Amino acid sequence: MADADTQREAVLTAIDRVADRLEDERSYLTELDSAIGDADHGSNLSRGFRAAADEVADSDDDVGEIVKTIGVTLISKVGGASGPLYGGSIMSASQELDDGLTADTSIAFAEAYLQKVLDRGDARVGAKTMVDALTPAVHSYKKSIEVDDLPPLTAFAKAVEAAEAGVAFTVPLRAEKGRASFLGWRSVGHQDPGATSTLFIMEELLATAEQYLEGETDVDAAAPTEPEADPDEIDGGDA
Ligand code: ADP
Ligand code: MG
Repeated sequence: MADADTQREAVLTAIDRVADRLEDERSYLTELDSAIGDADHGSNLSRGFRAAADEVADSDDDVGEIVKTIGVTLISKVGGASGPLYGGSIMSASQELDDGLTADTSIAFAEAYLQKVLDRGDARVGAKTMVDALTPAVHSYKKSIEVDDLPPLTAFAKAVEAAEAGVAFTVPLRAEKGRASFLGWRSVGHQDPGATSTLFIMEELLATAEQYLEGETDVDAAAPTEPEADPDEIDGGDA
């Protein structure tokens, strides 16, 4: 993606958008966390991401360094389980962006971020955590680019859809990690706050990518690849 100045501008726009969104969603995330946690997820994240956006606002560092600073700030400001998970994983994965932001480095960042969350939190898919939104998103993004040859913007839009499905998937699950696990079966029927904030963050990253990569979307490639089902074939036989 473009030159170093444009990449920096895009990353600063992204973190600002994320901070604004998490402020807007603060009460909603708190509501989700009050059902199965301790009602601090909204305030943890809005405080942390606003501090991170402020910290880098006037930076003239390269993107890798900016993203690292965002991670470091989150570690010190977010707290709870999600502080080290978000902050530590962003900080560690930021090294994948040291050579700038490209389709390849964005995949490497996404994979490194997911791996760090897994290393730190030890949550499997299905444990009702942020991992349930993140895993399908990262897998979908990588496959869209590397196997389906889709443009990064289209790939990211599909990844957001995958995360959205992952958030819905958390509702009927019993929590196995974090505070929600203390509730046992009573955690069933509630949406996981961390999976939800992961989706909100991704939605803002997508909106930023749309702003900066507009025109790079291959409309044909975005179209469904499955042929339309032939109703005659489906209704065939004895029907
Ligand atoms: P705390 O639970 O310490 O109050 P937050 O409320 O900020 O922290 O974050 C809760 C979210 O953190 C959960 O909804 C879940 O998505 C995520 N989480 C908790 N424990 C883990 C874990 N071990 N691995 C991955 N994510 C986790
Ligand atoms: Mg909490």
